[in-house]
Amino acid sequence: VKSLEGANNRRVKSMNRSAVLHYLRKHGKASKAEIAQATSLSFTAIKNIMGELMGCGLLDVVGYDESSGGRKPLLYKLKRDRYFSLGVHLSVSHLQIALLDLEGTPCAYDRFDMDRDALQSGEIAGRLISCIQASIGGFGLARDKLLGVGLAVPGPLDPSAGVILAPPNMKGLHEVPIKKMMQEQLGIETHVEKDANLIALGELWQGAGQGRRNVLYLDADEGIGSGIVIDGQLYYGAHYGAGELGHGTIHIDGPRCNCGNYGCLEAVASGMAILRRAGEEIRRGADASFKAQYMEDERSVTLDTVLGAALEDDPLSNQLLLESARYVGIAAANAIHLLMPETVIVGGTLTHHYPRYFDQLKEVALNRIFPSFARHIDIRKAGLGVKGGAIGAGMLVLEQVFRRSLDDWLEPQSLG
Ligand SMILES: [Zn+2]
Repeated sequence: VKSLEGANNRRVKSMNRSAVLHYLRKHGKASKAEIAQATSLSFTAIKNIMGELMGCGLLDVVGYDESSGGRKPLLYKLKRDRYFSLGVHLSVSHLQIALLDLEGTPCAYDRFDMDRDALQSGEIAGRLISCIQASIGGFGLARDKLLGVGLAVPGPLDPSAGVILAPPNMKGLHEVPIKKMMQEQLGIETHVEKDANLIALGELWQGAGQGRRNVLYLDADEGIGSGIVIDGQLYYGAHYGAGELGHGTIHIDGPRCNCGNYGCLEAVASGMAILRRAGEEIRRGADASFKAQYMEDERSVTLDTVLGAALEDDPLSNQLLLESARYVGIAAANAIHLLMPETVIVGGTLTHHYPRYFDQLKEVALNRIFPSFARHIDIRKAGLGVKGGAIGAGMLVLEQVFRRSLDDWLEPQSLG
């Protein structure tokens, strides 16, 4: 009974400490009384926790609060450059790396182009790790200042085991125990999570989803994915499999998807599908501002080429992008009927780089749900832009670490 009580006390203490850290991260500076009121903890409890954090060098005193008579209370703030976290987002076209300080503010950023062929070969994990090493070196960061690495990768994956299972567009990562590999080779604790889930969390913590409890995040990028937040928590479903909206069938007789099925939303409307369709149309005789480039070297035409052409009013690119937005809008309406979230957040390259995409998607989605719901549902653009995945991945590390006992922060991590 005694040891159970001890474990319980430690858990309560760690939850309280986590609440204080979160409050400071969100609100910047605060007095002990303000934190006590906001967290519903006693002033004594806050005093103890703040003393402990101060002792570990995690807090700065930054001045005095207004007083309602008597001595002015001190204002505290997280010492933001005491520790950092690294957020890594691997997509079909890029690897993005963001360095976050203790408050979760991005303070450095790196981006590498990914080679499509490399993603299909076993070398991809090694390349991923060497890019992360290069970034850590480039940021000039001492290893003992890094609390951990968060990795956002396409699903399906098992976040608890840290194993990537079978992402359709990255054959080189099938069944790869990436968490173990990264921890062994980088010597830094690693957390792995599905890309759309981390963008959803990033938006919830810092972006367009702040203060929301029930959110559907839709990612319209090279691939199409979604993250579901119910009552403030990620919804995983069984086997961590929820949210694969991109592989729901949207066209019964549609083209084959990289997952092996036919007519998936991803096969019909993703960035990869838009690129494929552009090639098909050009070979069929259609015109496009990048036609000559395509005829010369097909592979040099990327999604960025099509997005750039659309912004300069290339008719074929506009048509393909708006068609994609219609399909994704319909899929959004289907998902809304199933889940009825209060907010739908739409992000990904297609949304961020082509403004008409979001407008079209929203209009179609609202037209296809019951008008009585359409009046209330809030469909909005993601707030963190294309860096959302890397920021969410870095935030995941902070969230995990904040929950932990301080001894574990300050001692070298045991990795396994
Ligand atoms: Zn599919």
